[in-house]
Amino acid sequence: MQTLSHYTSRAAALNFRTEAWIDGRYVPAASGARFETVNPATAEVLTDVARGGAEDIDRAVAAARRAFDDRRWAGKTPGERKEVLLRLATLLRENLEEFALLDTLDMGKPIWETVNVDAPGSAHFFQWHAEAIDKLYDEVAPTGGRDLALIRRVPLGVVGAVVPWNFPLDMATWKLAPALAAGNSVVLKPAEQSPLSALRLAELAAEAGLPDGVLNVVPGFGEDAGQALGRHPDVDCLVFTGSTEVGKMFQRYAGESNMKQVWLETGGKSPNLIFADADLEAAADKAAFGIFFNQGEVCSANSRMLVHESIAEEMIARMKTRAEAIVPGNPLDPETKMGAMVDARHAERVAGFLASGKQDSRLIAGGERLTLGGSDAFIQPTVFADVPRDARIAREEIFGPVLAIQTFKDDAEAIAIANDSVYGLAASVWTRDLSRAMAVSDALVAGTVSVNTVDALSAMTPFGGMKQSGFGRDLSIHSFDKYSALKTVWISY
Ligand code: NAP
Ligand code: MG
Repeated sequence: MQTLSHYTSRAAALNFRTEAWIDGRYVPAASGARFETVNPATAEVLTDVARGGAEDIDRAVAAARRAFDDRRWAGKTPGERKEVLLRLATLLRENLEEFALLDTLDMGKPIWETVNVDAPGSAHFFQWHAEAIDKLYDEVAPTGGRDLALIRRVPLGVVGAVVPWNFPLDMATWKLAPALAAGNSVVLKPAEQSPLSALRLAELAAEAGLPDGVLNVVPGFGEDAGQALGRHPDVDCLVFTGSTEVGKMFQRYAGESNMKQVWLETGGKSPNLIFADADLEAAADKAAFGIFFNQGEVCSANSRMLVHESIAEEMIARMKTRAEAIVPGNPLDPETKMGAMVDARHAERVAGFLASGKQDSRLIAGGERLTLGGSDAFIQPTVFADVPRDARIAREEIFGPVLAIQTFKDDAEAIAIANDSVYGLAASVWTRDLSRAMAVSDALVAGTVSVNTVDALSAMTPFGGMKQSGFGRDLSIHSFDKYSALKTVWISY
């Protein structure tokens, strides 16, 4: 890691890409409209960016369709596509600090995190999916006789991707890496709070050798650019990460337009179950990471802790110490472990949950919104205990650094409370008893169950939700299922 003054001067010298990227070049929005993107840690405007609308989405989809139809990318061998995406991974590593700074400035997360997690993660995911693509074999059906039935995996065509602001580069990468590796063309709409890294990524992909039109990035607002993509008649598949509410809109857009495939990664209220036989020190360390990492702006954040009643006060004391050790600060300072909320509006929303928690629960740590460096977008790491089951902070996704602790009497009650949610993204279980670990993880309704850790995640394992946390999986070989169709080719001879 470098010093604060290094990052501050590098940040001041950045040259932002601020136009839409369509058909291999930067272009202004057709309407000429622009919108500001703000650094939430200072409340200062970073720059203004082309505000794409329906006309720009039309242009981008047309470019993507041309690129797909003339096979300039889909027609390459998997090995050739792999080479281009591996070059992109290398270029990302060569420009790692720039990407880290772009996301830190745009959405307020610590530079420690973007340098160590977000930017290297993106390079790793591009590399992993690139390396996978020439190891996937098609199938031959066991027809027998004088028939040869091939089950071929083919790209879908034009993929629309709409992503959120909490991991701007990584959420885009989770969609782009498998979609491009599989041979599709893509139109990406980044979140309005954090468009800068995706706009730079597009240029880098071109430098790596991605042909024009294969990747297009249209910054803009959800209700116009996002909706236009969701309703576009020539988009074959729409992949989304964001809120459950907007995810449902994409299902509607598809149903009211061309019945495009829709794959959703949405919200969560993930429980972390701590049994009395657990390693409580390790559980507390990981639980703090599980709720405070990235300011709690993590879809799979372990925002509910369910503790066995016999160890509840011990765990509450541990979580108080951990929460108080994390002090929000300047995201460009490499010592900072918690930055700003993505914007003042979101901080206001999280502050509303703090007020609600203070009414029905016991405040253990934090509980305040802070003003630092001219911005009021900071929230203290906060812990509540004695949280009633029907409390808003127990049921609703806060998307901030707020932990709700509840107690249980036995395993059955722990499972019942854990599953009493509309969400089913992730869950964690802490116990030294293998039978209990297996029985409880069998019973939990969640896309990922982590045992004696939290929020386990890798390129090798699928990530996604059950219930209203969505469906379809990012990461792993299974992510290719979203970006390809099975085509049967039957040959009689
Ligand atoms: P969001 O409001 O749903 O926005 C996500 C994306 O959808 C943004 O690009 C947004 O554009 C766009 N959008 C908003 N309204 C739209 C509309 N009417 N039509 C079409 N597109 C629209 O979510 P967010 O607040 O950015 O992100 C937080 C949410 O994401 C949380 O609920 C979190 O749980 C979820 N999340 C889930 C995962 C996962 O993998 N399951 C991962 C990360 C985050 P604008 O930027 O213009 O609003
Ligand atoms: Mg911003």
